[in-house]
Amino acid sequence: MKKTKKEIIKDIDDFFRNIKTKTPKEVKKIKKLAMKYKIPLKEKRKLFCKKCYSPFISPKIRIKKGLKIVECKSCGYVSRWKIK
Ligand SMILES: [Zn+2]
Repeated sequence: MKKTKKEIIKDIDDFFRNIKTKTPKEVKKIKKLAMKYKIPLKEKRKLFCKKCYSPFISPKIRIKKGLKIVECKSCGYVSRWKIK
């Protein structure tokens, strides 16, 4: 049975609501799904490491020069986002 785009969006929202209980494998899968259906993850992208797909559970966060810097505890990858 094929899901509608609306259902997929709901699945993705539900997934990210419980992101902290997810595995990197599941995060990767949901990201692929979103890309397939061209669903922008927007702020949700900030909930996991883009390198190893581990959910950020209690990451090290620093604020510097208008940037939010988050270090992944699993792989050490540092993500930077502009603070709006
Ligand atoms: Zn990582």
